Amino acid sequence: MWAVVAKETGGSDVLALVNIEIPIPGEGQVLVKVEACGVCRHDVLVRQGVFRQNVSYPVILGHEISGEIVSTGKKIKKFKTGDRVVCLPWSNLCHVCKYCQTGRNASCPDAVLIGDTGLNGGYAEYVIIDEYNLVKLPDQIPCDEASFISCAIGTVFNGVIDIGKVTPRDTVLVTGANGGLGIHAIQLALLSGARVIAHVTSADAMDELIDFGVDKVIFTDRGEDFSPIIDDLTHGNGVDVVIDCVGTPVFRPVLKSMAQYGRWVLCGQVTGDFVKFSPAQIFLKGINLLSTYGSTKEHLESSVRLVKDGKVKPVIAKRFSLEHAKDAHNALESGGNAGRIVLTISGENL
Ligand SMILES: [Zn+2]
Ligand SMILES: [Zn+2]
Repeated sequence: MWAVVAKETGGSDVLALVNIEIPIPGEGQVLVKVEACGVCRHDVLVRQGVFRQNVSYPVILGHEISGEIVSTGKKIKKFKTGDRVVCLPWSNLCHVCKYCQTGRNASCPDAVLIGDTGLNGGYAEYVIIDEYNLVKLPDQIPCDEASFISCAIGTVFNGVIDIGKVTPRDTVLVTGANGGLGIHAIQLALLSGARVIAHVTSADAMDELIDFGVDKVIFTDRGEDFSPIIDDLTHGNGVDVVIDCVGTPVFRPVLKSMAQYGRWVLCGQVTGDFVKFSPAQIFLKGINLLSTYGSTKEHLESSVRLVKDGKVKPVIAKRFSLEHAKDAHNALESGGNAGRIVLTISGENL
């Protein structure tokens, strides 16, 4: 099969298209013919060597996978050849630790992110997936839109619904609103009935955000203090919830924009920089500092239902074929992409 392999860490040039053996699934696994694979910022960090935990090279990157089952191991019960599926990205789960028992698979000590370790990842024609990780894909959802549901929609489903507990009474600020997480976070906040304000630092998809029903899109340079605008828009009250997909560059303006007792949900961090703050700045306002770490299988299943029902629209920034994975990484790193970049994988093009 054709696969894009990173033999070592480095620039996008380390991504090489190679022909390797198709892997053989174990008893509790299936072989999926990959139709699409989302290109996540995590993939870039692994390629660069910035993220190293449980990573081993050479590696086939990619954990945002959708496709069709082409063969099954002996113990597979719930799935069959021909099923269209989307995948939870954490494999090798123990199913007995306190995290697995409560659905928080990302924290299982045995968990391995597909696409971090060795030659089994989504930047390939075929990938092996554990049965537990599979969710059936309704016919209405195309594979390219499905591929990133777990990572880009499930994560903010967790942030907006479970952690942020957004209600129709809330005004919600989403930072990085046109990014892969943000553009889906605003849809979920709107679905929860909230008034939504979006902050962006590039003009991409501003019209699209308005079309989704965002009340106001704030466009500033990165690092600029947008809190006076929030002040104006909320009559000095601030925002009740922040879904923060940016982190350090917006920390100060977000802190100043929070309403009394606001919920600040940290979902992303786009730089390696630290921030300095006094805990009193948090507790004197009664701010709840919260965060999300990945999504559970339940989040994936719920997100698939929302997409199927047309309530959330997966937004694709750009599609690249597998052999152009390098260009996909370059496009992600250069920024300005509204939504998720996706590799569409079809053997005919290779
Ligand atoms: Zn991802
Ligand atoms: Zn576990």
